[in-house]
Amino acid sequence: MKDHIIVAFDTQDKKQFDFLFNDLKNDIGHAKIGMEAFYTFGIDVIERFKKENIKVFLDLKLHDIPSTVEKASRTLSTLGVDILNVHAAGGVDMMKAAALGFKENQTNGKMIAVTQLTSTNQDIMNNELKIPGLVEQQVEHMATLTKSAGLDGIVSSAGEVKKVKARLGLDFICVTPGIRPKGSDQGDQKRIYTPMEAITSGADYLVIGRPITQAPSPKEAYLKILEDIKL
Ligand code: C5P
Repeated sequence: MKDHIIVAFDTQDKKQFDFLFNDLKNDIGHAKIGMEAFYTFGIDVIERFKKENIKVFLDLKLHDIPSTVEKASRTLSTLGVDILNVHAAGGVDMMKAAALGFKENQTNGKMIAVTQLTSTNQDIMNNELKIPGLVEQQVEHMATLTKSAGLDGIVSSAGEVKKVKARLGLDFICVTPGIRPKGSDQGDQKRIYTPMEAITSGADYLVIGRPITQAPSPKEAYLKILEDIKL
C-alpha cells in the first residue's frame, strides 16, 4: 500500500538527492521525478529508482502542439516510467497525441493530465488567468476532456476527487499533490489537504514533497505519514 504515497524528489543538489535516495529507498514504493531533478540529473535518476523496484512518476507536465508532445512522449516512453503527465490545457488533440506516443513503447504506463495546479486558487484562476467559474467546476471540466482523450486520470487537489470520480468513474486515476500534514509549512501550495483528508476523498495517489524532503529525518516523516493514514 506504500505505493500510494509518491515522494517528490524535488532537488537540484546532488548531495541532497543522494541523501534522500539512500534515506528513503528501502521504505518507499513510488517516487516522483519532476523538472528540478530531471533537468539537472537526466535519465540516470530514473534508472536508480528502477533498480530498487521503486515506481517512477515522471512529472514533466508536457504542454505544446500535438506533434511535438507526441514525439516527446514517444521518447520518454522508452524510459519505462510508470506514470507520465501533460497539461490538460493543451487540449484534447494534444492529449490524444501524447497518449499515442507514450503507449507505443509500453503497455502498463499511465498517462495523466494536470487539471489546475494546486498552487492556483479561486482568485488566481478567475482574476489572473481569467478563467471564470469555480475551481472545482474547471477541474471537473478538464478531467472530462482528459477522459475523452483516452488518458488514464488526472492531477488535481484532493478537494476535487469525489466529484471527479462520481462523474468519470472510480477507476479514473486521481493523483493529488498539495498534501500538508497538520502543522507543516504551506509553501507555494494553495489548495492543500492533510494526508487523511486526501485518502478519505478517494485519491489514488498522494504526492508529497517538502513535508518529507525538508524534514530533519525524511524517513521518519514518511513513516509517520504512513502510520497516520494506516496504509
Ligand atoms: O513539496 P510539495 O509537497 O508541495 O510538492 C508537490 C509536488 O507536486 C511538486 O513536485 C509539484 O511540482 C507537483 N505538482 C503540484 N501540483 C500539481 C502538479 C504537480 O504541486 N498540480
